[in-house]
Amino acid sequence: MSRAWDHFVVAIDGPSGSGKSSTSRGVADRLGLRYLDTGAMYRAMTWWMLRQDVDVHDPAAVAARVEEPEILSGTDPLGPTILVDGIDVGLAIRSDEVNAAVSPVAAVPAVRRRLLELQHEIIGAGGIVVEGRDIGSVVAPDADVKVFLTADAAARARRRALEEGGADLEATRESLLARDEIDTGRTTSPLVMAEGAVHVDGTAYSLEDVVDLVVSLVEATAGLNREGTP
Ligand code: C5P
Repeated sequence: MSRAWDHFVVAIDGPSGSGKSSTSRGVADRLGLRYLDTGAMYRAMTWWMLRQDVDVHDPAAVAARVEEPEILSGTDPLGPTILVDGIDVGLAIRSDEVNAAVSPVAAVPAVRRRLLELQHEIIGAGGIVVEGRDIGSVVAPDADVKVFLTADAAARARRRALEEGGADLEATRESLLARDEIDTGRTTSPLVMAEGAVHVDGTAYSLEDVVDLVVSLVEATAGLNREGTP
C-alpha cells in the first residue's frame, strides 16, 4: 500500500544528545521509512583517520585522505549499520577517542563535500528520515518536514551518559558542550535551525511524545499536500 509520505525526506537536526537518534529511528519505524544517521558517517570518517594516524587537528592532512575510506551506511531504523572498508565500526565510532576528534574532522570542508555526496546518493528519491546538524539547511533544504530538536544541557548529558552505560555525567556534559561549540561555530555548514524548521524542545517530554509529535507533523504535511493536489 502506498502512503502519502512514501517519498518524503524528514530532516531532524539538533545538538548532541538532544534525542535525535531515538526520535529519528522511532519516526522512521512508525512511518515505514528508511533512516540515515549522518553523525555516524562523520564518526566513521574520523575513526578511519585515527586508525591511519592522520593528525585530525591538521585540516590539510585530513583533506588529503578523504577519498580513501569506503563508508557504507545501512538504513534499517531497527538495526542501522555502518561499515568502513568492510569493517563493522558500529561500536568503535562511539569511543571517547572518536568523540574528541569528530568535530574537528567534521569542520574540514573536503570531509563535508565527500560525505554530502554519499548522503545524496542514499537519500535518492526519498522515503527517509535523516538526522544530523545540517540536514534541513544544506543536505536536504527541500525536505518535506524539518525538525530542530533541542533539550537543555543537563537533560542531554543525562541521556548520553545513560547511552554510554553510565559514563561520568560531568565529563559527558563537558564533551557535549565542547562539540556543540565547534559544531555551531564552524564556517562550513554550522549547526543552525534551518529555514522552515519546527523547533521542538524535548526537555520535558518522553521519547514517545516527541515521536508522536513528529509523526503528526509528517501526517499533517502529507494531508496538506493531498488537499493541494487537484
Ligand atoms: O550526531 P553525533 O553526535 O553522532 O555527531 C557526531 C559529530 O558529527 C557532531 O558533533 C558533528 O561534529 C558531526 N556532524 C556534522 N554534521 C552532521 C552530523 C554530524 O558535522 N550532519
